[in-house]
Amino acid sequence: MKVRLLASSVQDPSRRQFVTSCLINRAVAIDAGCVGFYGSPQEQEAIRHVFLTHSHADHTASLPMFVENTWSSSGKCPRIYGSRETLDSLQRHVFNNTVWPDLVALSKEKHPFLSLCPLQAEVPVEADGLRITPVRVNHLVPTFGYVVSDADGAVIIGADSGPTDRLWEVAHQTDGLWAVFLEASFPNSMKSLAEAARHLTPEMFRREVEKMPSGVRVVAVHIKVRYREQVIRELRALRLPNLEIGECEKEYEPGLVMASIA
Ligand SMILES: [Zn+2]
Ligand SMILES: [Zn+2]
Repeated sequence: MKVRLLASSVQDPSRRQFVTSCLINRAVAIDAGCVGFYGSPQEQEAIRHVFLTHSHADHTASLPMFVENTWSSSGKCPRIYGSRETLDSLQRHVFNNTVWPDLVALSKEKHPFLSLCPLQAEVPVEADGLRITPVRVNHLVPTFGYVVSDADGAVIIGADSGPTDRLWEVAHQTDGLWAVFLEASFPNSMKSLAEAARHLTPEMFRREVEKMPSGVRVVAVHIKVRYREQVIRELRALRLPNLEIGECEKEYEPGLVMASIA
């Protein structure tokens, strides 16, 4: 499995992650913050499955363009997965004939644009050789973190979340877990905002890491760009042995974990 955080900034693309999309094996995306701005229409068309963590704009912003870029008269269309609440909000607030054409209704005609696939918590689905299990986390709107597994191991995409427990219980039951992508949105001085918005500061991040299986690679993501340097300083000060700061466009894969542990 190869996991890549997609770039969303024209300048300094590896470090400024303004919105969120993660691509796995070039065929499955988690979130659609910038997947509609990735590569060529043909490369986007190769992404047959998009799993949304939640409805917030930094995770869904490019979905209208993605659906437009991938449409063809072949009759094939991407499958968009999410909780019932997330998919309902897309229909009401995005594909509503005001913000964007109602492509959900148009998909009932000849050449579909997208297929909405509701998920249930902790019921895995198979997509392009991956097994993907949604787990409820703690955010302002209904949100899924995802456990993504293949024959070589598993990663967890933690999504936007304040302190949570169930995801880490599932992590302990997951064979071959080699990385967790965990948010670290705000600096410690903004703890009250982080709590109100159900996000993490580095200090809160540390407490989440303590709940995980030990030795797993932890990649800090969703760092608010305006506070990035401060958040990184505070994360490094935690001296967590397996901490990495997430980099867009780098490919994360299990073999490199073994190399880094060695
Ligand atoms: Zn959010
Ligand atoms: Zn977010």
